[in-house]
Amino acid sequence: MDAKICKLCNEPVTHNTKYCNTCENKSLSKINGLLYIPAINVILYPLIIFISLCNPLSLIILPEYTFEFTSEYFGVTFEIIGTILLFALSCYTLKVFFTKKKNAPRFFIIMLMASLAYDVVDIIWVSDLLNIPPETEDIVSLFKSGIFSLVWISYFLLSEKVKKVFVN
Ligand SMILES: [Zn+2]
Repeated sequence: MDAKICKLCNEPVTHNTKYCNTCENKSLSKINGLLYIPAINVILYPLIIFISLCNPLSLIILPEYTFEFTSEYFGVTFEIIGTILLFALSCYTLKVFFTKKKNAPRFFIIMLMASLAYDVVDIIWVSDLLNIPPETEDIVSLFKSGIFSLVWISYFLLSEKVKKVFVN
């Protein structure tokens, strides 16, 4: 029988695997494979939130905009404060995720839930304010985020890989 060697470091492999124990453990502790999907989200989140801040902020800054109702003013203030908090949360999550801190899974889950909660409140608020039912488009997008969050929250809670990656 041929002696197997590790495909990465050429050290002999004692059991029937592609990599030696050292390389296998190294690979397990990396942000790779399935974790690329949340990693991309963690990178894009602060950008998306920052861009979405421009809309309510412009309403407050532009002099030609006047608020017809007090509730409208509260709505916009809620959007600005909510978005700033989400932005701070997403920046912190970005930092702990890529430094592979122990609390990264927890913050990733908090970020998903906070953003979902914000969207729910925002949709209800806007529909209540304008006295129209929520737009189908918004409901569909909320439903998609809900499914996405559910899948990734379960993954981050249950995965052995996650436990090996975020150890710092
Ligand atoms: Zn190796």
